[in-house]
Amino acid sequence: MKKTSLKGAIISCLAGAAIGFSGMASAKHLPGVSDADVLNDATTTEDVVSYGLGSQGQRFSPLDKVNTDTVKHLVPAWTFSYGGEKQRGQEAQPVVSNGRIFVTASYSRLFAIDARTGDELWEYNHRLPDGILPCCDVINRGAALYGNLVIFGTLDAKLVALDADTGKRVWSKKIDDYKAGYSFTAAPMIVNGMVITGVSGGEFGIVGRVEARDAKTGRMLWSRPTIEGNMGYKYVQVEGKKKPKKVENGITGELNKSWPGDMWKHGGGATWLGGTYDPETNLIFYGTGNPAPWNAHTRPGDNLYSASTLALNPETGKIVWAYQSSPNDAWDFDGVNEFISFDLKKDGKVIKAGAKADRNGFFYVLNRTNGELISATPFITKQGWTTGVDMETGRPIETGERPGAPVTEGKDHKGKPVFAVPSFLGGKNWMPMAYNPQTDLFYVPANEWGMDLWNEPVTYKKGAAYIGAGFTIKPLYEDYIGALRAIDPKSGEIVWEYKNNAPLWGGVLTTGGNLVFTGTPEGFLKAFDAKTGEEVWKFQTGSGVVGCPITWEMDGEQYVAVPSGWGGAVPLWGGDVAKRIKHLNQGGSLWVFKLHKM
Ligand code: CA
Ligand code: CA
Repeated sequence: MKKTSLKGAIISCLAGAAIGFSGMASAKHLPGVSDADVLNDATTTEDVVSYGLGSQGQRFSPLDKVNTDTVKHLVPAWTFSYGGEKQRGQEAQPVVSNGRIFVTASYSRLFAIDARTGDELWEYNHRLPDGILPCCDVINRGAALYGNLVIFGTLDAKLVALDADTGKRVWSKKIDDYKAGYSFTAAPMIVNGMVITGVSGGEFGIVGRVEARDAKTGRMLWSRPTIEGNMGYKYVQVEGKKKPKKVENGITGELNKSWPGDMWKHGGGATWLGGTYDPETNLIFYGTGNPAPWNAHTRPGDNLYSASTLALNPETGKIVWAYQSSPNDAWDFDGVNEFISFDLKKDGKVIKAGAKADRNGFFYVLNRTNGELISATPFITKQGWTTGVDMETGRPIETGERPGAPVTEGKDHKGKPVFAVPSFLGGKNWMPMAYNPQTDLFYVPANEWGMDLWNEPVTYKKGAAYIGAGFTIKPLYEDYIGALRAIDPKSGEIVWEYKNNAPLWGGVLTTGGNLVFTGTPEGFLKAFDAKTGEEVWKFQTGSGVVGCPITWEMDGEQYVAVPSGWGGAVPLWGGDVAKRIKHLNQGGSLWVFKLHKM
């Protein structure tokens, strides 16, 4: 068994890459994106101004010109190459406003493109220092739009706001110290004039937090740590002072209630994936990553609020409710996945619910007003660590499939290994699922794999991997790893599934045309009948699709777009799975499709 080292996967960056603007900088000033535009995004079909096609994150578009009958006529309108020598994983979701597409790319780049012609309007190429510490490829998941700003995060843990017309930097804020392992890869979210972000770096002993800034200026408003014992802050503007005053705003949780000693100071709970916002309950939902280090024997207790879903008040940054899916996580089951608000129609009632397909293999439905558990059902074929969730306590019933503590004897003090299922890359990883209110189904990109896992001694050191575990990921089945599954949230039943040879690593889109779109590492963008799962269309994009498809309407025609470019965590961390997919080629492009005119 080869030990996988985090250092081996850290990518050194091209030093001195200049901040560049190229192409024809558009001088035309177009109307900006308002709070109302963001709030209404899910129903306005001529634009896509938020990550998730609406702040609830349903990834549903009512557009139906492209449908199960017409999708066979879907052909490329144009394609755009990101160019350069930086072809790595392209995990972004593009956004579209006023006939312009803004898409982020590997190595903290951002392109503005004319949506009609595919012409580049401008490119922003962030200057990255040597020594950045991204855990899982040099990816980025997308930008937020507000006013005339395009806002995105960078691998050196900065938040950058660019002028949408010119690509020139309007403001830039340091989120945290990249030398301590902080980075930023998620798409920021706009909530009532604020830009909401988290932090990446859960494998380096950072502490996760959710933060709100004034979207126009980048000024900090509040910061809420996710790990019990850490202090929250708000930032008050003082007259005559440029810098706002940092004021204590309540500790998270209760010191040492579920963490021993000082372990909470480097307790993880990274908020490395974006959140969602539900205007009906006025709550921000954020998932939190694994507790640190992975070796659970170092931190007896539940380790709140790691591996949890948090509901936060957007005005105060206070935690309104929390639900922990993997207490005292021992498997790197980050609970970061998107929590999607939807109306659960069950037993003649409509419940304000939310759903999340967790890395640990459970599909959870919660009451989103108070965090109460409604159901937890497996969406993968095997879960070795648990036999189900106790509906009284909301806690998983464990089987004891946990790796042993490090031992004193031997050269490397490795503890007793276990074969654990699912692997740490999860029953589902970052790639967002979609919910279709017309079929009442969720479409979940799942993977079937396990891992050999063992613990090792570890101590915290700034900027070094803080894991204390070794692993090798292994496929469970010969014929497939990935599975796109349609799940009925009322029963947890899997209504249909599509099996894919390679692990699925891209986001999902569903539409009023009874379609579900998702990409494959083998290079295809595929469309399925949303009710039956029948594959009704596919197109080879030339490299693996690990980005998020979108759709919008322009000049009376429906368009579909998806980034193409293989990469992400699987080739870096996939163990035996990586061997199966090593023939796949990297890339970096945006594909845009529309119906062929007869
Ligand atoms: Ca819209
Ligand atoms: Ca993790």
